[in-house]
Amino acid sequence: MAYDKALISSILRQLEQQHDRYEAEAESRRYQLSADIPRLAEIDRELRGTAAKAMRIAFESNNTDAAIEQLKQRNLALQAEKRKLLLDNGYPADYLTVTVSCPICRDTGYDGSRLCACVKRRAAEIQKQDLSTLLPVDKETFSTFRLDYYSSQPDSRFGLSPRQMAQANLQRCRSFAEHFGSSYENLLLYGSAGLGKTFLSSCIARTVTERGFSVTYDTAISIFDQYNAVKFRTGDPAAAAHAVERFRSADLLIVDDLGTEMPSSFHTSCLYDLISRRLMSRKPTILSTNLLPAELENRYSQAIASRILGEFTQLRFIGSDIRRIRKQQRL
Ligand SMILES: [Zn+2]
Repeated sequence: MAYDKALISSILRQLEQQHDRYEAEAESRRYQLSADIPRLAEIDRELRGTAAKAMRIAFESNNTDAAIEQLKQRNLALQAEKRKLLLDNGYPADYLTVTVSCPICRDTGYDGSRLCACVKRRAAEIQKQDLSTLLPVDKETFSTFRLDYYSSQPDSRFGLSPRQMAQANLQRCRSFAEHFGSSYENLLLYGSAGLGKTFLSSCIARTVTERGFSVTYDTAISIFDQYNAVKFRTGDPAAAAHAVERFRSADLLIVDDLGTEMPSSFHTSCLYDLISRRLMSRKPTILSTNLLPAELENRYSQAIASRILGEFTQLRFIGSDIRRIRKQQRL
């Protein structure tokens, strides 16, 4: 699973700051108590000297094992005395221990040499929050997809009704989201505006994010804007470079409204960069567009059209504009 590097390092930085804060708090508790209970400071001093003492024993003693064992017993006795002192003075036994929020990594962020589950959990939460601010469809799920907005009259061109086609698309998108990660597929959702393409891609985004994958959703216009900012160093080029990196490396990228941007050779080369990189690293992409597959070559290039037609499952959306139907129903 690909985690956003900048996101992970900011989480690790937060963990480190939190650990420093906990350590400082424990230190100030220790400082306060050492005035009231002087014996505590003596115990701490002796405990800190343990490591040096063990080294000396290893070099000097004839009977190393016995000496080390003796030292260990002394340590345990000191720790027990410390706990008792705290309890006797009305403090919890772990009053001077540095707090940790994750017992697995002890707030280092690493479980052995791998990222701790607490860091991954946090990354998934943040990604989910970030994504929900971007998604145009709020809180919608596959189960709230309304098939009754689509006509059940068969369309003579396809031999199927818009409703049958919408139902097949719904199933396909749902299965894509539920099996994401265990199978590899790219989707091309095409058809006129207002037929549920954005709705279904939002549902996919939400489901795939909830399953812990990184998902980036954006419109083609805004994606090309970021490429533009990197190339021509306008706006905030560093933030744009970070965004472009995310478009290239997210586990799932959803490009909405492809074809609504101004036609230009720069946009064509950005799209080529994005699609070919993602295909090469086998990272799934969803393209949503009002263009027909046959129009792709004319609009972009033969190389782009052949990659999309060869590597993307095509889902066609037909029917009448749902937004118009909903508006009429409200009147
Ligand atoms: Zn952890």
